[in-house]
Amino acid sequence: MGVKKLKVILLRHTPNPQGVVAMGAKLCYSAAGITDLEEDIMAKSQNAFLERLMEMGHLTPFEHASFTFGIEGVSRSLLAQITRHRIASFSVKSQRYVSAAGANQEGNVFGYIIPPRIAALGPEAIKEFASQMAQMQKWYDGWVEKLGNYGESANEDARFVLPNAAETKMVVTMNARELLHFFNLRCCHRAQWEIRALAEEMLRLVRMIAPVIFRDAGPRCLRGPCPEGKKSCGRLNEVRERYKHISRTT
Ligand SMILES: Cc1cc2nc3c(=O)[nH]c(=O)nc-3n(C[C@H](O)[C@H](O)[C@H](O)COP(=O)(O)OP(=O)(O)OC[C@H]3O[C@@H](n4cnc5c(N)ncnc54)[C@H](O)[C@@H]3O)c2cc1C
Repeated sequence: MGVKKLKVILLRHTPNPQGVVAMGAKLCYSAAGITDLEEDIMAKSQNAFLERLMEMGHLTPFEHASFTFGIEGVSRSLLAQITRHRIASFSVKSQRYVSAAGANQEGNVFGYIIPPRIAALGPEAIKEFASQMAQMQKWYDGWVEKLGNYGESANEDARFVLPNAAETKMVVTMNARELLHFFNLRCCHRAQWEIRALAEEMLRLVRMIAPVIFRDAGPRCLRGPCPEGKKSCGRLNEVRERYKHISRTT
């Protein structure tokens, strides 16, 4: 184990997510039956229609398309932030059922994330951080032993000495509407670096599957003035330029 890096996989998504969204919305405005609507949707591009829906703010049809991600190499600190998003669904690796004690095989340490700014301080800083993690591993192993090494009943208390840096893994599902909202908040420079990196990677993946829905997704300053007022990062042009290049396919 030791240092872990962010890994995001788009595991599953609604087949033809843009078609499903268009279907839901067309039904609202049409007297036609479902089969006819579906044939119409398959026969013609729905891009302009989807764009109009987004401009109007008719966003409930976007809830019909869902995306499931496998996420590894993120900290428990990120977990606290992402789980604030109540419309998402989560399955998270348990620190009760999965012991970290096995990590300490001859100098081995539980998986952890090192913040880039600490890593950028150089090899000495990285070594110091690693030795702090190793110390926590020793504390953890010590408590598991003192608590009788009884699986989850020992793990659930020993984990109290593990840090926010400890790695976790999760499966997360969000619908397209929630994703658009998540990207608004978490792609912004005001968001913390780790969740911002995750959000950008998720956006890169979904843009490849649903390019019209996610064409202008990202921080709110992509579509208007920065809403952060005095707390603005002041890098509006740079941010807009960057987001143009996150795997835009249309
Ligand atoms: C830069 C930044 C800094 C932050 N700092 C802090 C902090 O210091 N402390 C802290 O506690 N949190 C902090 N947060 C977390 C923040 O307060 C939200 O909990 C988090 O961003 C989830 O946002 P949400 O509630 O809009 O999202 P979701 O839970 O995904 O909800 C999506 C939308 O659904 C609607 N909704 C969901 N549930 C309800 C409900 N019960 N009632 C009405 N409408 C609902 C709302 O319109 C909401 O915007 C921070 C977030 C960011 C981006």
